[in-house]
Amino acid sequence: MALNVQEIRNDFPILHREVNGHPLVYLDNAATSQKPQQVIDTLVHYYSHYNANIHRGVHTLSQEATDAYEIARKKIQAHFNIRHTHEVIFTSGTTHGINLVANGFSSFLKEGDEIIVSALEHHSNIVPWQMLCERTGATLKVIPLNENGTLIFSEYEQLLSSATKLVFVNHISNALGTINPIAKIIEKAHEVGAAVLIDGAQSCSHVKPDLQALDCDFYVTSAHKMCGPTGVGMLYGKLEWLNKLPPYQGGGEMIKEVTFEKTTYADLPHKFEAGTPNIAGGIGFGAALEYLNNIGFEAIAQYESELLAYATEELLKIEGLKIYGTGPDKTSVISFNIEGIHPYDIGTIVDKLGIAVRTGHHCAQPIMDFYQIPGTVRASFAFYNTMEEVDRLVSAVKKAKMMLS
Ligand SMILES: *Cc1c(COP(=O)(O)O)cnc(C)c1O
Repeated sequence: MALNVQEIRNDFPILHREVNGHPLVYLDNAATSQKPQQVIDTLVHYYSHYNANIHRGVHTLSQEATDAYEIARKKIQAHFNIRHTHEVIFTSGTTHGINLVANGFSSFLKEGDEIIVSALEHHSNIVPWQMLCERTGATLKVIPLNENGTLIFSEYEQLLSSATKLVFVNHISNALGTINPIAKIIEKAHEVGAAVLIDGAQSCSHVKPDLQALDCDFYVTSAHKMCGPTGVGMLYGKLEWLNKLPPYQGGGEMIKEVTFEKTTYADLPHKFEAGTPNIAGGIGFGAALEYLNNIGFEAIAQYESELLAYATEELLKIEGLKIYGTGPDKTSVISFNIEGIHPYDIGTIVDKLGIAVRTGHHCAQPIMDFYQIPGTVRASFAFYNTMEEVDRLVSAVKKAKMMLS
């Protein structure tokens, strides 16, 4: 089923604004996606009609808010094909989810243990593990890259051993768009008894993962990358892991009983949900999933691959332009440079023409070091972008090249 892109664009009020006198072309979807009216309305409706704190009150508003929040949890459960509702933990986003797991593993690791991460990771997926290693004496190992921006799988197999306790990879690299073979990565890790955490922040807007089929131990994502609000996300953990992991933060909502002698913790998922959560955000997250599922992930993937193919072909016609991340499996992210021109200068000129791209290291400095570049220009496409917008990007980049060289 083909997408009706013009109809879809009508759902996104922001796509109708102008920037610097030009219609906005938003190509920074890998940093955050835009929000459809359906999600915006959900947030406004919550604050205008049933704003209340959840799980505690007997009054009607509190019950309505609790019901809506828990329905959102069930929508997340269904979307990701998670076995138990209480395996879904609301977080403030991917970064929070990763830190929660990293903190919990402090009590399981000792000197000599190893953690494997990929060279394609976002900073939020490197720093918490370095901190964990400092706390425990464990060692961080890195799966290296091929020149085309894919992981060297044989090197990964070499790194695995009985010392490996944890493997962390993103499903899709935010800097290059490379899709990692996570099913194979998980299978190999399990052969040596290691747990696996998948960072789904970049993949969730493009594909619909089946977490039971994947069999990962943990999975984290952020709502704002998939048409939902900022400041909310989810952590999935297998029940046996969530039961073993100590709580991350102490506070209200996460306790069963508190005395000054001893506190007992609440059952899952509340054990990991201290304090008043982002209630509106959680409900908005559910609305975003509903919105995307109504469009359909197959149709989204098909259309985005057409955008990617067309944009790649047209950009490569520009002399001196080089694309980083050219593996066979990638999503609609194009990271590029033009010989002799700083990416920041290109970003500044195309912004004057109403086009939003990202420039810099994309929170993935090790990848930039690998290519020995300061950064790239990154155009990341979503299902609401059009072929005409690709044309506008290409002509703006040509113009920038003319002005700068
Ligand atoms: C955006 C992103 C993150 C961080 O997500 P936050 O919402 O900022 O916590 C982590 N990993 C990847 C791959 C990302 O794209």
